[in-house]
Amino acid sequence: MRTTTARVPAKINLALGVGPRRDDGYHPLATVYQAVDLCDEVRATEVDDDAVTVRVQFGGDGWREQAPVPTDANNLAVKAALALRDAFEVKAGAALSIRKVIPVMGGMAGGSADAAASLVACDALWGTGATRTQLEEIAAGLGSDVPFLLHGGTALGGGRGEEVSPVLARGRFHWVFAIADHGLSTAEVYAGYDLLHSDVPPPVPEVPAALLTALACGDAYGVGAALSNDLQAVALDLRPELRHIFTVGERGAALGTLVSGSGPTVMLLAEDADHSAQLAQMLLSEGVCADAVQASGPEPGAHLV
Ligand code: ATP
Repeated sequence: MRTTTARVPAKINLALGVGPRRDDGYHPLATVYQAVDLCDEVRATEVDDDAVTVRVQFGGDGWREQAPVPTDANNLAVKAALALRDAFEVKAGAALSIRKVIPVMGGMAGGSADAAASLVACDALWGTGATRTQLEEIAAGLGSDVPFLLHGGTALGGGRGEEVSPVLARGRFHWVFAIADHGLSTAEVYAGYDLLHSDVPPPVPEVPAALLTALACGDAYGVGAALSNDLQAVALDLRPELRHIFTVGERGAALGTLVSGSGPTVMLLAEDADHSAQLAQMLLSEGVCADAVQASGPEPGAHLV
């Protein structure tokens, strides 16, 4: 049986500006994405019928409590395979197998990552020969973060996040992710954001110029100082205990500490790999999170391995 495997990074938002809810229910975003080497893998295996199935295996430490990931047509990897199949009139099926390392409902776009990896793996399995642009179009229909997870690196996200363009970023950034044992619903966080702004709508979002300058210079201190997330206040209201992570970040001289996307993962920027190991150790010994994972970026987007 032929098999193809794609690896895909998690995403973080170094800046996440969120505008007023649009009529279609989405929020306009002005974001700076970075892909980090906390990776899921999606394997696609040939089958002799036209069924697209999925099974999910948890990688990493394995002990962390994981929110359920659907193993039916609601799984984003299955949706991606079906969307590719429809677009190219493929007749074959595929057995997908996901090795999950990206925390589920952690604000790191794990489901979207699996969708991007599934597109790449199934394109190779079925020999669809989709162009980059065609894959990006299908990706945008699957979810706002999916195009970036094909793209990878460090990039600007406009529209509802699906309009991706690269930004100049030098050097490598060392992160520690403080992972919670229960996820947060992205929809709940956005609903809280709308409530917070029910009287005065938020302004049209913009990416902070200081962040772009720091990235272009490879200045980790400047990046740490310019991190921002409009959803952070809501995530901290929903999970007040996350504030303890910020205290540890200050004591451990993290260059910056920020809620990742819609949370509850909190990311701490370190000076280098040694500093990130120290921060991870502090987080674990203080017992402020369920797990502390070191990762670095930027990483390439979904690719065959
Ligand atoms: P985002 O940062 O994009 O808002 P998230 O990282 O907070 O997302 P995900 O892990 O992507 O959250 O999960 C969001 C929802 O998608 C969950 O309800 C989950 O069950 C569902 N889901 C569907 N397919 C997958 C998948 N392959 N992996 C993880 N979650 C999936």
